[in-house]
Amino acid sequence: MRIDLHSHSDASDGTDSPTELVHAAARAGLDVLGITDHDTTQSWDEAARAAAEVGIALVCGIEVSTTLRGRGVHLLAYQPDPTHPVLQDRLREVLRGRDARVPRILERLREQGVRIELDDVRRAAGDAAATGRPHVADALVARGVVADRAEAFERYLNPGRPAYVRRTAADLHEMLQVVADAGGVTVLAHPWGRSARDVLDAAAIADLRDRGLTGLEVDHEDHTGAERAQLRAIARDLDLVVTGSSDYHGLGKVGHDLGCNTTEPAEYRRLLAAQAL
Ligand code: AMP
Ligand code: ZN
Ligand code: FE
Ligand code: FE
Repeated sequence: MRIDLHSHSDASDGTDSPTELVHAAARAGLDVLGITDHDTTQSWDEAARAAAEVGIALVCGIEVSTTLRGRGVHLLAYQPDPTHPVLQDRLREVLRGRDARVPRILERLREQGVRIELDDVRRAAGDAAATGRPHVADALVARGVVADRAEAFERYLNPGRPAYVRRTAADLHEMLQVVADAGGVTVLAHPWGRSARDVLDAAAIADLRDRGLTGLEVDHEDHTGAERAQLRAIARDLDLVVTGSSDYHGLGKVGHDLGCNTTEPAEYRRLLAAQAL
């Protein structure tokens, strides 16, 4: 059984529609796909219909943008009730913050002599509920300013680069509770992948476990082999579920092919069992 629990459609910053994503998962030989767009459940219904057609199991999730001690932490929330009012409210707030950031990024780009209009970004984002830096990157590519998303991030959009602008995110501690209240389970996405590493040492992860966290995404391309070994040991000590996933974004992110990392069936069963508790 091949299980990949983290992927993006064009409801956020992936490039496949939810249907295309599910079909790609089937072609990649996956039996279980987690669809986890940033801060939205927009893709769930379409993906569920496609999954029923092609006969793979779909795990509906959200990669929620949260903060812990000023650092951005991505929290995978699996199968919460999407109509839960507090969850909806918090996601709405994050999505508003995403939209509000775009004009500010464009202003910074203009200061760099790069003129991109809001409509360029809107066109790049299409119907995505969650607009993000990758859509600004796509607009930069469309205008011939950079060759691809990676170059856009390196030159302009990464933290420390001239067009980087912070955005609002949900409080991690509160979100752990909200997802639990909404009947879902939570896994820390790529905990040592980016800026979050400083605030996610073993003691901090233990504290999050005490606040309801169920798992750690250990096998992720952002982690080296040594980091995976350390994270696996932490997970074992704390009795946290270990997941592995691709964080597939379609053509939007190279080196993240569906199934490039997978979750052990026993760990997947533990994740589902935690939800039933
Ligand atoms: P945002 O959600 O607007 O903060 O943008 C973060 C998103 O950009 C994440 O989903 C990453 O997957 C994506 N991202 C970050 N760096 C890169 C890169 N170098 N190339 C493509 N996508 C990236
Ligand atoms: Zn993304
Ligand atoms: Fe992420
Ligand atoms: Fe992701």
